[in-house]
Amino acid sequence: MTDIYEIKRFLKEYDGPPVRLMEVCGTHTAAIARNGIPGMLSENVQLVSGPGCPVCVTVTDYIDRLVSFAKKPGYAAVSFGDMLRVPGTRGNLSDARSDGGDIRMVYSPSDTLALAQHEPDTTFVFAAVGFETTTPAYALLLAEAEKLEISNIRLLTALKTMPAAIDWVCRQSDSIDGFLAPGNVSVITGSDVFSALSQTYRIPFAVAGFEGESLLAAIYALVKRHGSPGVLNLYPCAVTAQGNRMAQDITAKYFEPCDAAWRGMGTIRASGMMLRKTYAHYDAGSAGLDLDHTNAYCRCAQVLIGELLPSGCPSFGKACSPHAPLGACMVSAEGSCYQYFINHRGY
Ligand code: SF4
Repeated sequence: MTDIYEIKRFLKEYDGPPVRLMEVCGTHTAAIARNGIPGMLSENVQLVSGPGCPVCVTVTDYIDRLVSFAKKPGYAAVSFGDMLRVPGTRGNLSDARSDGGDIRMVYSPSDTLALAQHEPDTTFVFAAVGFETTTPAYALLLAEAEKLEISNIRLLTALKTMPAAIDWVCRQSDSIDGFLAPGNVSVITGSDVFSALSQTYRIPFAVAGFEGESLLAAIYALVKRHGSPGVLNLYPCAVTAQGNRMAQDITAKYFEPCDAAWRGMGTIRASGMMLRKTYAHYDAGSAGLDLDHTNAYCRCAQVLIGELLPSGCPSFGKACSPHAPLGACMVSAEGSCYQYFINHRGY
C-alpha cells in the first residue's frame, strides 16, 4: 500500500503522458470537488465527470409527465427533494406546486406507504429515478405495498444501469484513459461487472470510496496503470466482486432490463430497468419516455459525457446558477455544474 504522502507527491509532480479520467458517480463528483482534488493533480491528469447523476440524466419528458400527475385530480407526485427544481418543458415540480399541484417530498420510497394508507382516495406516483443503488429500494416499496395490500401506489420509472452508459461513452471516443467506477453502484453490482468493459476497451477501472484519500489512491492507481486493463477494488470494506445478491434478487423479481433515454445521450439499448409485466399494475405509464427539450443555452448534454467542463458553458455562473438553474446539472447536489459552481472547480 503506497503512503498517502507519496501518492500526493506523485500526482502533483506527474509529468508522464496526459491521462484523462472519468468519474461516473454523482457522489464521487461531489466528494472530488469537496476535497479539492483537482487542485492536487498535475496538469497532465485531468478529471471529467460522466453521466453519474441520476437526476441530471433524466429527460424533460419525464419531468413533464410528473408535473401532469401532480396537477391531475386524485393524484399526487412523490419525489426526493433534488427533483423538484429540475426544469421540464412547462416548468418544474416546484412551479407545479405553486400552481396548486399536489407534490409530496419524501426522504425514502417507503415513506409513500404511510401516505397511501392515510389517503386511500389519492393515487401516489413515485418519481422512481436512479441507478442500481436505488432500484432495490423501489422493489422493497412494492414488496411492502403487496404485503399491506396497498393499491394506490404507482411508479413512474426512469431507472438506469451504469455499465451500458459507460459502454456508450467508450464507443463515442477513446479519449478516456480510465474510470473511477461508481462506489455506490458497485456495492450492489460487485466490481466484476466492469471486467468486460475494461477488457473490451483496454482501460483500467478503479472502485473507490468517498473519502479524499480513497479517491486519491484510486486516481493514483489509474495513472500508474495507464494503458493496462483491469479492475481494482479500492473500496473492499463495502464492495465485493459479486455484489449484494439479496439486492440483485429483489430487483430482478420486480424489474427487467429495457432500453432507456438519457439526457444528452439519446436512447441506449438495455441501459434501463422497467417493471416486469407481472407488476405492470404498479406502472404509472413509464413507456416511451424519450423526448428531451433542454434550454437552447444549456450544454448539459456535453457536460454529461465529459466533452465540456461546466466552466466551458457560456451560461455558467451568468444566466445559470444554483439560484436560477437552466439545466439539471446545476440543480442536483450531485450535478457537475452545481459542484463546479459551489467549489470553484476548474476555473
Ligand atoms: Fe446547463 Fe447551466 Fe450547466 Fe450550462 S452551466 S450546462 S446551462 S446546467
